Amino acid sequence: MKVWVDPERCQGHTLCSMIAPEAFELDDIDGHSTAVFEEVPPELEDKVREAAQSCPECAIFIDVDQQSTTGQEKSRETTS
Ligand code: SF4
Repeated sequence: MKVWVDPERCQGHTLCSMIAPEAFELDDIDGHSTAVFEEVPPELEDKVREAAQSCPECAIFIDVDQQSTTGQEKSRETTS
């Protein structure tokens, strides 16, 4: 599973690093997030998914089995 943060969308809410501090680090200056790992270790996948679903800006992208999705798109899947 791959993860990355879109710097254009990220507004530095810090939710991702509170949920998965091992997987996201915040810039000291502007507070924007970047993914620590491009390839997420299996033991962190659940936390990274939760962080993606919690991001208010849908700035966290996850790539699983050739499909890219954001937390918002996942939320839509579960509510429709
Ligand atoms: S929760 Fe989203 S907007 Fe907030 S720091 Fe993380 S990636 Fe950026």
